[in-house]
Amino acid sequence: RAKGAGRNGYRFFDREMDKDVGERLRLSNDLRLALARNEFVLHYQPQIDLRTQEVIGAEALIRWQHPELGLLAPGRFIGIAEDTGLIVPIGEWVIRMACHQAAAWQRAGLPPLVVAVNLSAVQFMRGDLVGTVASALATSALPSRCLELELTESILIQDAENILGTVQRLNAIGVQMSIDDFGTGYSSLSYLKRFAVDKLKVDQSFVRDLCSDPDDAAIVRAIIQLARSLGLKTIAEGVETAEILALLQELGCDEAQGYYFAKPLPADNFSAFLSQRLS
Ligand code: C2E
Ligand code: MG
Ligand code: MG
Ligand code: MG
Repeated sequence: RAKGAGRNGYRFFDREMDKDVGERLRLSNDLRLALARNEFVLHYQPQIDLRTQEVIGAEALIRWQHPELGLLAPGRFIGIAEDTGLIVPIGEWVIRMACHQAAAWQRAGLPPLVVAVNLSAVQFMRGDLVGTVASALATSALPSRCLELELTESILIQDAENILGTVQRLNAIGVQMSIDDFGTGYSSLSYLKRFAVDKLKVDQSFVRDLCSDPDDAAIVRAIIQLARSLGLKTIAEGVETAEILALLQELGCDEAQGYYFAKPLPADNFSAFLSQRLS
């Protein structure tokens, strides 16, 4: 804060910080009870194959129905869940729920979808991620190829041996793996050699101004070429307009998700969206 802000400025800042600390404390306390109280929900955002225009997947995105604060986006609580370790049981719930939902949609006669789940680095360090994934697939009877795990570059650049081991065991189970927010993390690409991933998710920060910013267009083109030469697929996130979609198609991007197609939807609305597109 600028020195010129003076005493009032500092006092204002302190009060803001108190508010932040207070909210964090409150949310971390409430978070401990949220699983038992069944307050989490998953919303699902459709993922579209740009060649066929078909919905081929859904990204599961967590929300917290807080009893007083309303529906909270993950940005409000995932960091706190990571710091407190609560992300391990919460993440386990996400994996189980997503598998259960995808299997239920298949049984209901919808075309088979790949459900994508976001993972946090903490889930690789603590808990039994491989065991959780294996048991969620077994319990739901979802084929392993219908589950995709979204990893971030920050997980893959850690050269801890156990990360490599865990990713290899997940590969052996047969789940798919993608790298989320690709291009925003680290300049080292060597992890692409070490980890057998299937897909790069082009971060929305490169997609948003794709049609007006030549630098973004150059970066997206390069990511798609890189993926292609490594035999990986690409999916663009944050597609909001028909113009962006058309350019992505021209650049040879395989898949897309974004508000242009649909926002993340509650499970019932998602299946209604799918049925409507199919009819
Ligand atoms: P992400 O995995 O990169 O997810 C994409 C985010 O962009 C989502 O925000 C989604 O709602 C939003 N989005 C989708 N399409 C558009 C669009 O066209 N325009 C714009 N402006 N935004 C769009 P959301 O749901 O708030 O999630 C934020 C982040 O929280 C996710 O980023 C992910 O990193 C994290 N997250 C969500 N669910 C989970 C979870 O179950 N576990 C963990 N560890 N993290 C999660
Ligand atoms: Mg994601
Ligand atoms: Mg992302
Ligand atoms: Mg993101």
